Amino acid sequence: MKKIVVIGSGYVGTTSAAIFANCGYSVTAIDLDKNKVDTIMTGEAPFYEHGLHALISRAVSEDKLRASTSYDAVREADIVMSCVGTPDHPDGSSNLSYVFDVADKVSLLMKPGTIFVQKSTVPVGTGQKIKQLFARATLDVSYVSNPEFLREGTAISDFLWFDRVVVGSDDREAAEIVTQLYRTLETCLDRIAALAKVQPPAAHVSQYFITNLNSAELIKVTANAFLALKISFANSISKIADATGADIVEVMDVVGADPRIGRAFLDAGRGYGGGCFPKDVRGLISSASEYGVDLSIMTAASDLNETMPGYIASKLQKQIGEFDGKTIAVLGLAFKAGTSDARLSPGVKLANILAHDGAMLRVYDPEASEEAEADLRKGIEICDSAALAVKSADAVCITTDWPELTELNLADLAATMKGAILVDAVNRYDKHTVTGAGLIYIGVGR
Ligand code: NAD
Repeated sequence: MKKIVVIGSGYVGTTSAAIFANCGYSVTAIDLDKNKVDTIMTGEAPFYEHGLHALISRAVSEDKLRASTSYDAVREADIVMSCVGTPDHPDGSSNLSYVFDVADKVSLLMKPGTIFVQKSTVPVGTGQKIKQLFARATLDVSYVSNPEFLREGTAISDFLWFDRVVVGSDDREAAEIVTQLYRTLETCLDRIAALAKVQPPAAHVSQYFITNLNSAELIKVTANAFLALKISFANSISKIADATGADIVEVMDVVGADPRIGRAFLDAGRGYGGGCFPKDVRGLISSASEYGVDLSIMTAASDLNETMPGYIASKLQKQIGEFDGKTIAVLGLAFKAGTSDARLSPGVKLANILAHDGAMLRVYDPEASEEAEADLRKGIEICDSAALAVKSADAVCITTDWPELTELNLADLAATMKGAILVDAVNRYDKHTVTGAGLIYIGVGR
């Protein structure tokens, strides 16, 4: 059975390592962060993701998954997967220091015949540079790009019931071997799903795409950029809806009913955040400009996205008046439901704007409070429950679509608040039900 080393124990690396280990592969997860390594070795997940804990716990107890801060396991590995972070520099270009740090380190350790798999999202052309680095070290290894499409919050089911596996390489044989990992995974789906307690999606077709190396890299950033574009497009139209009295949800339900367009990612609201869309959009703009290509369409999408928390704050201000002396609850600090990830979270951004403008802020999230804390302005009170956050508040803002937050008991909410304003920054409430409960509804484009 193949030995796999997975470098980087973040959302992508830990999910990949835990699932391949439960497929029967011998997996070593490597991370520089000793806390993450120790957490995995005790059978726990280093962050919240539904089902991940059970998979790690089983694989560690069966000695299929080990974690280490040392790169030693690379010497014996058949396949080395790199899943380290690719954040952006302040100018928007991709910071590839972690990616090249990994490439440098493994180039000293890989045995002949090893397949190096890049799962991190990298600008097109990165793989060719790493291949040159390996060639300079006269390594007889293969390079494969296998970008990851999982989404935090549904990472396990996305990985198990993938809609596409993209394998890009100039080495066809290596590409076939990597493809085979996923074909093996398809034979253990039921067992892993039962352990993680996840359900298959209603309709699902798994497709395999073997492409050239540069195409695989460009596919990943293009997919994220297009989804971000759809969100920003919906948010642009939501401003016209606000100005005219149209309802963006009705508009997009019908526009999205056209199969050429599709309804997904046309939800207006507080904009996108997280560790992927913002930096992938900026990275694509930057890498396009390196090749002399103008991507102003994406610059517009990114700029529009930045305006959304401020836009929502100004809608609230029109209703509430001055923020000074007002108590506002912001419910939702994770950048999306189902994760503890609060990177570039729109909820955090909205809370900071309101606090900066003089309001007293109470915030709550089911999972992300700890991660969000460092990004919240001083003086913002983090609450242990939604009930505590909304008590006597003048306004309540829903900023993440956790079911707990989008299914609040509106009668109880109206009774416990001092004011009566509900800001639905994720457009999940029925506005008539909200007003029926005696609250004032503020949505985005509604
Ligand atoms: P992350 O920030 O959660 O984790 C990255 C990990 O890499 C960290 O634990 C860090 O300590 C470790 N690391 C950094 N340098 C290292 C080194 N030299 N050796 C060992 N470990 C090192 O990142 P993530 O969210 O898992 O994303 C990883 C990549 O996958 C990124 O390129 C991202 O764009 C892409 N991606 C992410 C998602 C997602 O939903 N998070 C989905 C698809 C693709």
